[in-house]
Amino acid sequence: MPTSRRTSPMRGKTPQQPNPLLRVLLAAAAVGLIVLLSAGMTRLLQKPSADVLAAAQGITPAPPTPEPTPSPEPTITPTPPMYAPFGAQYGYGGEELLPHTPTPAPDVRTATPSPSAPAATTARLLKKGMSGSDVTRLQQALADLGYLSDTADGQFGTNTQNAVILFQAVNGLSADGLAGEQTLALLYSGRALSAAEAPPMDYLVLINREQPVDQNYVPMDLVKIEDVLSGDVVKVKYSGTRANRTATEALGKMLEAAMEDGLDHFQISSAYRTYAEQQQLVDNSVAEYRSKNPSWSRDRCLSATYQTVAPAGTSEHQSGLAFDITVPGVSFTGTEQQKWLHEHCTEYGFIVRFTEEKRSITGFLAESWHFRYVGVEAAEVMEKNNWCLEEYIEHMNL
Ligand SMILES: [Zn+2]
Repeated sequence: MPTSRRTSPMRGKTPQQPNPLLRVLLAAAAVGLIVLLSAGMTRLLQKPSADVLAAAQGITPAPPTPEPTPSPEPTITPTPPMYAPFGAQYGYGGEELLPHTPTPAPDVRTATPSPSAPAATTARLLKKGMSGSDVTRLQQALADLGYLSDTADGQFGTNTQNAVILFQAVNGLSADGLAGEQTLALLYSGRALSAAEAPPMDYLVLINREQPVDQNYVPMDLVKIEDVLSGDVVKVKYSGTRANRTATEALGKMLEAAMEDGLDHFQISSAYRTYAEQQQLVDNSVAEYRSKNPSWSRDRCLSATYQTVAPAGTSEHQSGLAFDITVPGVSFTGTEQQKWLHEHCTEYGFIVRFTEEKRSITGFLAESWHFRYVGVEAAEVMEKNNWCLEEYIEHMNL
C-alpha cells in the first residue's frame, strides 16, 4: 500500500531525536539572542543616552532645547501724537486712542540715524524759503511717508512747511515746521510714523481747569490761518497765528456766509497757543497786577489772574480748535457780527464755548468771542439740548 509505506519511515524514528527543521530554528533563535544581547550591551557600554540614564533614575528628561530664535531687529517706536493720548487719558477719547505718553520717548529724541542720514554736524536746518538738493531729499521723504502730495521741487514752500509740521506732530516732535537735526534724523531713520498711521484728530477733546492738557501736547495738522484763508475773509491780528486745518476751513466757510449776509471786518485775535505761550500770558498778567498793586503777594496776583486767564495747560487754545473772533476797534459783544455768529456758528461746527449760563460747569467767565470747533454733528446736538461741551461729553458717554 503506497500510503502506509510513505509514512512508515516517520514512525521508525526515535522520539528523542530532534527534527532537523526544529534544530535549525533553535540555532537561529540562539544566534539572534546573542546578537541582540551583544548589541544592547555594546550600546549601553559605548554611549548611554541621557534619556536612558534619566529613565533609569526615574527622572523625566528635559524637553529638547529649541533652536535659538534670532533676535528681532531693534526697533524704535516713535511716540504717538500727543493729542491721542490726551483724549484717552481722560477717558473720552475712544478705544482707538493710544495710551497716554505725556513726554516724547527719549528713544525718539536720540534715535540713531541710519547710515544714509546726513551727519548731524553737516546737515543744515531746513526751513521755509530755502532751496537745494537737501530740500528735495526732505520733500521726497515726506512724500514717501504720505505727508506731502506735491512733487519734490527743491523749494521749501508753505506746503513743505505744513508737511513738516504734520510729520512732527504725528511723531511727537515739537511741531515748529523747521526741519532741524532731530526732525531730519527721525525722518530718514525708517522708523517714523507715516501720515496713514496717525490717529484721527479728536475734535471733541476737552480741556478745562479740571482736565488740563500736558505741557508737551501738540495737536496735529496746524496751519497758518493766512495760508488757508484769504485776507478778504478774515484779518489775522498776529501774523503767523496757527490753528487746526479742518477748523480753519470751517471758519472760512462760516465767515464767507456772514459776508454774504453783509457782515465783514472779522478778525482773529487768537487761535492756537502753545503751553509756553499760555504761561507767558499768565506771567504777563501777574506782572501787571503787581505793578498796579505793589502790596499784593504773588499768590494774590496769580489768583486775580486766574479769574480771566486760563492757567497753562487748561486753555483749549492749546488744542488748535478755538478761535477768538473780534472786530477791530470795537467791543465785540453786542456787534452785528457777534449776533450773526452766535446764531449761525453751529451750522459750521462751532460752539460758543463759554456762556454765563454754563459758567459753573465750564469754569470760565462768558466769552462771546471765543468759538470752539467740535464738528457740525456735535455742535447741533449741543445746541438742540442746550449742553456745553462738558455736558455733551457726559450725556453722550464719551
Ligand atoms: Zn479764547
